[in-house]
Amino acid sequence: MHSANPPLKLLRSHRTSPRGKRFPSATDCLVLCVLLAILPRSATASSRIAVSTDIPSGNAANVRVTDEAATTTVRFTPHPHGGPECLWFCFRMKHLETAGKENALNDSSPAQEHLKVVLECPGNTLGGGQLAHFRPVFRLANQDWQRAGAPKIIQLADGRREAAWSFRMPADFMDIALSYPYDREHLDKLIEETAGFWRADTIGVSQGGRPILRLSNDYGARNGKRPGFYLLARQHSGEVSGSWVLDGVLRRFAEMGKEAPMVWVAPLANIDGVEQGDYGKDNFPYDLNRAWGSPPMRHEVLVLQRDMRLFAGRCRFSGGVDFHSPGGTEAAGMYAFISKSIQAPEVSSTSTNLAAAIGEAMGGEFAAKNFVRTADYKSRWETPRFGNFCQDELNAPGISIETPYALIEGRALTREDYQQAGRRIADVLAAFPETPATR
Ligand SMILES: [Zn+2]
Repeated sequence: MHSANPPLKLLRSHRTSPRGKRFPSATDCLVLCVLLAILPRSATASSRIAVSTDIPSGNAANVRVTDEAATTTVRFTPHPHGGPECLWFCFRMKHLETAGKENALNDSSPAQEHLKVVLECPGNTLGGGQLAHFRPVFRLANQDWQRAGAPKIIQLADGRREAAWSFRMPADFMDIALSYPYDREHLDKLIEETAGFWRADTIGVSQGGRPILRLSNDYGARNGKRPGFYLLARQHSGEVSGSWVLDGVLRRFAEMGKEAPMVWVAPLANIDGVEQGDYGKDNFPYDLNRAWGSPPMRHEVLVLQRDMRLFAGRCRFSGGVDFHSPGGTEAAGMYAFISKSIQAPEVSSTSTNLAAAIGEAMGGEFAAKNFVRTADYKSRWETPRFGNFCQDELNAPGISIETPYALIEGRALTREDYQQAGRRIADVLAAFPETPATR
């Protein structure tokens, strides 16, 4: 049955028309008619659920929704949004029948109906090989996000596999995403809850014209001597677990008050991708984290480099930390990438020391056994990254921290886990030698 293509529940493309209306074209109608003709007799186009990607960070492609007996099935694939890689997904499943049933007393059917969500073609996602490690998050109307359990893995006749999750039919709607979303709303909450510790400034705009925010706890002064770290997240816009770790870092610094180092941080570096729901790894025209040459290959990086140079002139630049998420189903623990630096080998060794100190603070609870790594996997652009810029231009360590989306050694991660890991990183940064001996 899984080789059949059930009909389209027509939904407009979030990518091609972010806010506008799209009307079914003649081609859409023709496709629908053809699909209806080949539909298995027992399944019908759903009258119960409509899918929408028109929510923050929305992403899904090739969505089809069918009803068969009491089960409604939503099939989807993460949308590459024009890039070579896909992984991030986030969409809403709205229960269409709710309104009409409000007056239907004793109608028990919603409780008996089920919603099955099927991730198709997971083999085409970045690092999505271990299907059992996919643990998306979901939320119902007026409820918080929660982690789904392990998927049922469906073996297809041609050798491919799919991952499926079953839920009770939502009374109103249900959202589902690869992992806990983190966007501007969460950042505003952080700023509010840290009571004035973080000041937000707009340091420029993205290639799509959206403001790029930078938070700071101190503007410093020209030739200032306060130790300072420049932090970054979401160069790859779908890598939300990195944001939750950074959230913990920033909350911990706020608790330290004046004991914290001077920190400037750009938490949503690829803001276009965050808002559009792009996965954003290796996206075009250039991966943000490969665009750090001089001159830079993305406007966002131009903005960030100028801000970092400004920063480095107003404190004693102690290093940069960039927060990421690894392959989609990696689950051995957090780890750090350090950059090899030909121009400044002594700074590389300081990066190793910083990364090792963070690994030690993470402990067995969070750290992968092989915590400190060099990024030597094949890249589409063998051009400078954030870490190279920190080391070669600003003469201080530049490291990346990778945090799994869902699991560490079988333990499902909560947002509090991510934040706890971040708090430990903040403690390491605050204690890291102000002037590394090797500099
Ligand atoms: Zn990344």
